[in-house]
Amino acid sequence: MFDPLPPDEERLQVIKGFLERQRAEVDIIRTYLDIQIGLVGERLKHADPAGDAPPLEKQRGLSSREGAVLPAEGWAIEWRRTPEGAVPYVVHAADCFFAPRPGPKRARLIDDQNARELLVNGVKACHQCNPDVRLDMDG
Ligand SMILES: [Zn+2]
Repeated sequence: MFDPLPPDEERLQVIKGFLERQRAEVDIIRTYLDIQIGLVGERLKHADPAGDAPPLEKQRGLSSREGAVLPAEGWAIEWRRTPEGAVPYVVHAADCFFAPRPGPKRARLIDDQNARELLVNGVKACHQCNPDVRLDMDG
C-alpha cells in the first residue's frame, strides 16, 4: 500500500504545520458559517410565511447580491485566533461576500487609512474583493 507520508522528521513537521494552518482556516470558515446560519435562523423566526419579497433593487441601500446585512462603505478585518489572542488576518471590503459581518465580537468597519496601515503591515488582502487594488496599493 502506498504511504504518502515521508519518513523524516523535518518534512513531517512541515506537513503537520501546513495541516494545522489549514485546520485553523477551516475553523474560521466554520465560525463564519455558524454566524450566518444563526442570522438566517433569527430572520426565519420573524419571516412572513405568505409574504412577497420585493425586488432587491427596490430595497434601499442593498447590494444586489447580499441584502440588508451588508454595509456598503469601509473595510472589514477578518481576525484569526492564535494562542496569543486574535490577530488581524485578512482585510476585506465591507461589501465582500467573505467579510465578517459587523458586530461587537465579529468585526468593526475601518476607514481607508486604517485599511492601508494593516495592508502595509502585512495583513493579507482578500483575493475576492481586492482591497489593495481598490485602495491603489497593488503596485
Ligand atoms: Zn474580501
